[in-house]
Amino acid sequence: MKIHEYQAKEILGSFDIPVPRGRVAVTADQVERAAKMMGGRCVVKAQIYAGGRGKAGGVQVAHHPEQAHEIAKELFGKRLVTHQTGPEGLKVRRILVEETVEVGQEFYLSITLDRQTSRYCLIASAEGGVNIEEVAANAPEKIHTLTIDPYTGLRSYQARQIVHKIGMTGGVAEDCVRLILDMYRCCLDKDCSLVEINPLVVTKAGWLLALDAKINFDDNAVFRHWEYHEMQDYSQMDPLEISAGKFDLSYIKLDGNIGCMVNGAGLAMATLDVLKENGGDPANFLDVGGGATREKVAEAFKIILQDKDVEAVFVNIFGGIMRCDVIAHGIIEAAGEMACQLPIVVRMDGSQVEEGKALLKESPLNVQCADFLGEGAKMIVAMMKQEEP
Ligand code: GDP
Ligand code: MN
Repeated sequence: MKIHEYQAKEILGSFDIPVPRGRVAVTADQVERAAKMMGGRCVVKAQIYAGGRGKAGGVQVAHHPEQAHEIAKELFGKRLVTHQTGPEGLKVRRILVEETVEVGQEFYLSITLDRQTSRYCLIASAEGGVNIEEVAANAPEKIHTLTIDPYTGLRSYQARQIVHKIGMTGGVAEDCVRLILDMYRCCLDKDCSLVEINPLVVTKAGWLLALDAKINFDDNAVFRHWEYHEMQDYSQMDPLEISAGKFDLSYIKLDGNIGCMVNGAGLAMATLDVLKENGGDPANFLDVGGGATREKVAEAFKIILQDKDVEAVFVNIFGGIMRCDVIAHGIIEAAGEMACQLPIVVRMDGSQVEEGKALLKESPLNVQCADFLGEGAKMIVAMMKQEEP
């Protein structure tokens, strides 16, 4: 789960990490008022669920409140396109107005989950700022990492080693050790999958300040933080992802044209691989989970059909807990309701499989059934070829 920069900064502040003074605004007038509170000169920052805003004009310095008003008027309602948003961009509906800071040096600092080791890892670099991706690509030796042992936790001597590697010395270095330990505490307490400060700056006056902040929460832990629910900004999310969330389905958008309905994440991965191997290109995957009902299957199928990139649907379900006739009913109901004429291949196995297949065959849908995954993938690719004019 993603949150906005201003929310991430509130959280970091509550863990004693220094952040600039700021106010969030939803109209240009509010931005102007906030600018006055910051002393006139301020930084106007578009709040979207993506980074790369600086390079895209989403972070601008205003020299007086009227200018802040002008910048805000320009940004509000605009779809900001950055290298992280995709070509459609994300709509700016909130703006963070912050006091300006005299930046001495910019550092990069983050704690994230490393899938290789299944542990948190600390990442730091003295080359922080808007070009961190290029640094990672061209000069990886300038990026320092440390895997955190969950049993011992992050120790201050380890944080100190990294702080020295990024060239900090004296009082600032000790402040940074403190800050890293606070960041780790935040990660654990708030169940974060990412806490990133880029840039962490040493100001001209010699203080540490988190000038930008990004926090992602682990979706699987959201249930134990009642306050997260209200933090979500649905305007920043794919509407289909929101509908899927309502029915407790996981929906992931991809860039191909075959919609995939699968039960279980492992089976989903295998399905995508086999589809690709056979020349198919998945448009999404929708995991209906273990014990889905007819209604849930129908909702899942409707979500797939609402994805405008979908030109065919591939269903791959192992009916261990789920009954195949229930799945078939769900598909027929949803496809009927949406007047779906697209090619569909259903590969299912498990209890009541013959009943399920019979139901599909009798239906008016453009559907074929497969017994094996590879066979099903070949079928859907072939059906799509036939449809081509
Ligand atoms: P991002 O591009 O989405 O990561 O947005 P950031 O919040 O990191 O802002 C982009 C850049 O703007 C930062 O890397 C800083 O260099 C600069 N910036 C942001 N706030 C200030 C500020 O108060 N003073 C100065 N001088 N620069 C700032
Ligand atoms: Mn940044």
